[in-house]
Amino acid sequence: MKIGFIGLGNMGGPMAARLVGAGHELWGFDPAAPLPEGARRAESAGAAAVGAEVVITMLPNGAILRAVADEVIPAMRPGAIFCDCSTVDVESARMVAAAATAAGLGALDAPVSGGIAGAAAGTLTFMAGGETADFAALQPLFAVMGQKSVRCGTAGAGQAAKICNNMILGVTMIATCEAFALADKLGLDRARLFDVASTSSGSSWSLNAYCPAPGVGPRSPADNNYSPGFAAELMLKDLLLSQEAAAAADADTPMGQLAAGLYRQFVEEENGRGRDFSAMLPRFEKRGRA
Ligand code: NAD
Repeated sequence: MKIGFIGLGNMGGPMAARLVGAGHELWGFDPAAPLPEGARRAESAGAAAVGAEVVITMLPNGAILRAVADEVIPAMRPGAIFCDCSTVDVESARMVAAAATAAGLGALDAPVSGGIAGAAAGTLTFMAGGETADFAALQPLFAVMGQKSVRCGTAGAGQAAKICNNMILGVTMIATCEAFALADKLGLDRARLFDVASTSSGSSWSLNAYCPAPGVGPRSPADNNYSPGFAAELMLKDLLLSQEAAAAADADTPMGQLAAGLYRQFVEEENGRGRDFSAMLPRFEKRGRA
């Protein structure tokens, strides 16, 4: 396929590299990041889109996505598909999809989980919102960049799935970290807590697969001095998106709100930026019941 790829940063760069490696003709644009080997350089986002069957965007936020979409959609050929893989607010995803559809294009929001390592290894999970035909048309590309893709519903459903999932993740990670910190103060060995809870009703992905306690459970960022992994500021971004969506939809999400507040404090006031999101454990272990 002829693909335009806009936003070649930590995630977009390796995703684009995999598409090039699979033999696709890829025209890339990013004002700052380097072009993956074998990709062709476009001089603008619009130029990357001309003649492409698919345009993929991997950008920092909804405002940038909307600006890029304004430039790209008029340059795309009829019947081509605009596929945004960034994590953005549901509202921006729906606006961009509506503009693409009005211009006679296909549209998908297809945010990912799996992080930078997953992007490099081609093991991302895509959660998509849009029409079935557009989702089916992009299957060959998702298969190159990921190991799983799920169509979650119509426009915006991919972003909705992403923020709901990450709200569960943020809340369970905090609960897991505070439980380990409580265990310390009760004189309970962390490894014994892991043995019990990981096979009991306290189990979760945060505990079983990504244990925040160093030396306990499977290898995780905790065993690498909390180097990310999934950085705390990215968790904060997703939690804030979940709360923005919850406010717009009048949904009561007290745990998500609390998690967003704790990650904001951790990132903005407690040197959490650049640390893995599981570094909430050393944060809790230093604190008392203030
Ligand atoms: P990044 O900051 O490394 O990359 C974003 C890129 O977009 C940068 O290279 C930047 O130069 C480029 N960009 C900004 N404005 C642009 C424009 N107008 N035109 C073209 N390019 C432009 O960020 P990332 O880590 O690659 O994340 C990208 C998206 O993926 C974000 O929405 C993020 O939330 C999401 N995401 C990231 C991870 C992760 O682990 N990093 C995991 C899942 C999802």
